[in-house]
This record gives sequence, C-alpha cells and structure tokens, in this order.
Amino acid sequence: MTQGGQATGEDQQSVEPVLGLDLGGTSIKWVTMAGGTVTAKGQVPTPQTGPRDVLAALVGIARRAPAARAIGMAAAGVLDPVRGRVLHAPNIAGDWTSCAFSAELAAATGCPVSLANDARAFAWGQLRYGVAAGASDAVFLTLGTGIGGALAADGQLRLGHGRRGGEIGHIPIEPVDGRACGCGSTGCLETIAGGRALAELGADLVRAGAAPALAKEVGGDPDQVTAGAVVRMADQDPECARLVERAGRALGLALAGLVNTLAPEVIVFGGGVAAGLPAFRPFIDELLARHTLLIETPRIATATDGFAGAMGAAAWANEPPAGYPAPIRPGA
Ligand SMILES: [Zn+2]
Repeated sequence: MTQGGQATGEDQQSVEPVLGLDLGGTSIKWVTMAGGTVTAKGQVPTPQTGPRDVLAALVGIARRAPAARAIGMAAAGVLDPVRGRVLHAPNIAGDWTSCAFSAELAAATGCPVSLANDARAFAWGQLRYGVAAGASDAVFLTLGTGIGGALAADGQLRLGHGRRGGEIGHIPIEPVDGRACGCGSTGCLETIAGGRALAELGADLVRAGAAPALAKEVGGDPDQVTAGAVVRMADQDPECARLVERAGRALGLALAGLVNTLAPEVIVFGGGVAAGLPAFRPFIDELLARHTLLIETPRIATATDGFAGAMGAAAWANEPPAGYPAPIRPGA
C-alpha cells in the first residue's frame, strides 16, 4: 500500500479476490481468496455426465461465488496448460480432448483461467500460504486415490521439462514383480501406497478370508473396503498391518531417494489418505534415518484441509509459478 491507502499495482493483485476450483472425481471444491486469506468456500457434486456438464457446474460456481479477477482450476490428470485443455482426466467421465476447457470457462466468466495439475496446485498453495511458506526446498506428496507429487527449489515449483515433473507416485519400487499401474508401468509407489491400491489389496484380503476385523468393518462386502478402513484395522488384523507397513516402507524408500537428491527442508503430505499418515510414519522415519545419512533430516508436515487443493488453485490464479504459461484470457 502507498501512504494514502491506495493499492499499488502489485498490492492490488494480491488483495483482489481470486477463485480457486478443485475438480475431483466426486466433488468440485472452491475457495475465493484475497490477500492470502480464504474469504469464502463451498463444494458441489461433480457431474458424472461428461465435460459439458462439468463446465456448466464450474460456471455456476463462478457466478455464485464472490466476484473474482482470475480463476485457477486444479484437476488430476494430464493437462495442456498452454492451450488450456484437459488431455486425460482418469477420475472423471467423458471425452475431454475435444473441450477447449479454459477458453470456454474464460468466455463464460470474463476471467482469465489457469489450469494446473492438482498435486502441483496443492504444492504451490502450501508454498505460498501453507505449511511450507518460506521454505526454499520442499517435497510434496498428495496421498489420495493415486499419489501426486511436486518439488520446490529456491522457493519455486520445479515443473521440469514439458512441465511434467513431480510424478513421485510413479517412482518404481517393485519393478520386477509389482502390480500393474495406471501409467502403464509396474510396481510404481502408487500401486503399493496409493488409496486405490490399499483398498484393492484390502478387498483381496476380505475375499480370501484373511482379515476378519476388516471384513466385519465393511459388513463382509469387499467392495466397501477403503484405504482408511485398512489403516484403521491394522492394529487388529496382522494382514492389514502388513499392508500398512509395506506402504510405509515404499513411501520411505521413495522419499529417501528424493531427500538424498534434493535435501529438502520439509516434506509436505496432503490428500485424503494423509489422515492415515501416523500409521505410515514409523516406517517412513526408519527408512529416512537409515538411508539419508549425509543429509539433514527434513521436517515432515501435513496439510489435510479438504480445501487445500482449491486454495492452491487460487494461489495459482493469483500468481502462477515462474516459467508457467500465461492464463487463457476471455476472447483469446
Ligand atoms: Zn505408475
């Protein structure tokens, strides 16, 4: 602010509201932020009937939410931020490739639109306003259905060549006899420690009659097993404990490699499965202690607020990471 209370151009950018949208498989969460603070938030169910209806739901949110000067949208999947298109959205129905997503959202709302991978948006929000604020070097993991990731160095997100970097969930852990991964490879971290993998492995235990407490927890229906249920039953079913230990060790091994390479100050966990982190921590901590002997042990932090992804999208709309493409503007 200048002396007379007039906002300078730069100040104005940060105090005028921005809208962050987090497009998930089951819900669209949104926040408006001004000056680094969340001023309003909400969520609606994600339409399961394809991109046109998802777009209509997003426009509806933008019209109901407090007026914003820019919109950021976070989505899981492969994105083309230059053209503002979703190339592959694994958790949301329909063909996205024909939808000029950002351009249509910008035209309907009159706001510039930035598109960001959900894990990278989460990381940017935490780096700017969250538990990693002020950190120079950081590693981010989102534990959800899959495992997303992002890296920061010198206080900036490092998106890598083609802006595709940070795929921590696809670090190979069991490349020889591991399970098939959605990325086309085998034995990725995500196939051992991702939410979907833990739920599937837990369901297999129920089907085999190998986890009586878990079976009771889900009423005998393997299809009702969640990652959370597997973690909760680990102190009653030895086979659930084994899955949790295996997931914790896989996370610890992947992180040990990253810590040795990057020497981060902080490792930040987010996502719905991060609530189960205390169960994984002893194994993560053991592996980090054993395999990062030349490096100072990083702080481990969690950001489990369900709106952290939307907050990151808003942070992205406010100020995208250095080197990231400009937002798609209305009429562009
Ligand atoms: Zn993979």
